[in-house]
Amino acid sequence: MPGVPPAAGDAPARIAPPPVVGLVSLGCPKALVDSERILTELRRAGYALGADYAGADVVIVNTCGFLDSAKEESLEAIGEAMAENGRVVVTGCMGAEAARIRERFPGVLAVTGPAATEAVVEAVRAAAPIAPQPFVDLVPEAGLKLTPRHTSYLKISEGCNHACAFCIIPQLRGRLVSRRPDAILREAEKLVAAGTRELLVISQDTSAYGRDLAHARFGASGLRAHITDLARALGQLGTPEAPVWVRLHYVYPYAHVDELIPLMAEGLILPYLDIPFQHASPRILKAMRRPASEARTLERIRAWRAMVPDLAIRSTFIAGFPGETEADFQHLLDWLEEAELDRVGCFAYEPVAGAAANALPGLPPREVREERRDRFMAHAAALSARRLSRKVGQTIRVLVDEVDGTGGATGRSAADAPEIDGRVLLRDAHGLRPGDLILAHIEESDAFDLFGVPAGQ
Ligand code: SF4
Repeated sequence: MPGVPPAAGDAPARIAPPPVVGLVSLGCPKALVDSERILTELRRAGYALGADYAGADVVIVNTCGFLDSAKEESLEAIGEAMAENGRVVVTGCMGAEAARIRERFPGVLAVTGPAATEAVVEAVRAAAPIAPQPFVDLVPEAGLKLTPRHTSYLKISEGCNHACAFCIIPQLRGRLVSRRPDAILREAEKLVAAGTRELLVISQDTSAYGRDLAHARFGASGLRAHITDLARALGQLGTPEAPVWVRLHYVYPYAHVDELIPLMAEGLILPYLDIPFQHASPRILKAMRRPASEARTLERIRAWRAMVPDLAIRSTFIAGFPGETEADFQHLLDWLEEAELDRVGCFAYEPVAGAAANALPGLPPREVREERRDRFMAHAAALSARRLSRKVGQTIRVLVDEVDGTGGATGRSAADAPEIDGRVLLRDAHGLRPGDLILAHIEESDAFDLFGVPAGQ
């Protein structure tokens, strides 16, 4: 999960459940495929699917318009959905007769034709918007607004099979449901063809990808539903002339994560791992019920860095978890110092309604939680400054995000994910465009950002 945002009060924070969408699907197998696509997109966008009219925030009626009898059946279905629920989006073949539908049911929210997945999803979003939820959203809110064409999020699964004590995602989003690897690859190919230069792979638990599919093979190429195989396939989408960055988020350090490191060494995926460690004290990790939190993590980080010296590791932590003593917290600071993580965020623990951790004893007072968070962040800033200063004098690859028209540009290195990590601020960057992948000579650094000048393509 992305982490726990800063606390606002000691009462458990309430997370709104996602809006529920109902669907009535009429017609032929093609219409059924359209319905499946719509449901997949809605599920991916975070909507829950409902089985009846009553509990739905909006109902989609996928109509058939082949024969008069089918049209009549479609109109009846729309009428039933209007009577039972009243918030109805109509799609499918009969959508071609929008005027007839609107004349009979002036209150329908939207009418689209067949194979109009995007328009249907847009209509659902307008009718039942999902409020941003910092506790559970994988993508930073700003990221959604600002995602430029050259950077795309690629969601590979939804849900989670773990039961971390502070987290309610499994209750909200259900158990792990992985997408087919060939479908993910097709989506990635389309994104790359449309100009994406960086794929940000997200899920609740990226390293568990494909477990629910028994890591089976799919599609004509027999691509295995496993993160190593998927990452390799994504890494092969680029060409020497138009490379594509593949960045993995929310990776738990299961044993097979070691298999990803050679892909980084080969240059197929970015030398970047976003691992939400959350803590380092074995006692607290146990209380948190964290997956893959074994004692050898430091050793493994060293082994990874021996193979890929420029590996950047980002993580999030929670300070002041119930039962955390000053000794546990000090253990965390010492661990951070040894692990030398590149980018970290830390949140003062906050109870979330429905989370098992609320029942744990020993919640440190708010001031202590916040003081520990601040101490952690001061430590992390010093560590980050130290690690970034090693880049001064080097020439590194930078993906340009923005140009300001007066010769300045902002980009990111392989070590920087958008919105959550640092930036590379460039001077004398005339003629660059967002999406350009260039070389930059680094002249200065501070605690979070690098400063440099373009040094060629
Ligand atoms: S791994 Fe733990 S924190 Fe992450 S989504 Fe699953 S239960 Fe929540």
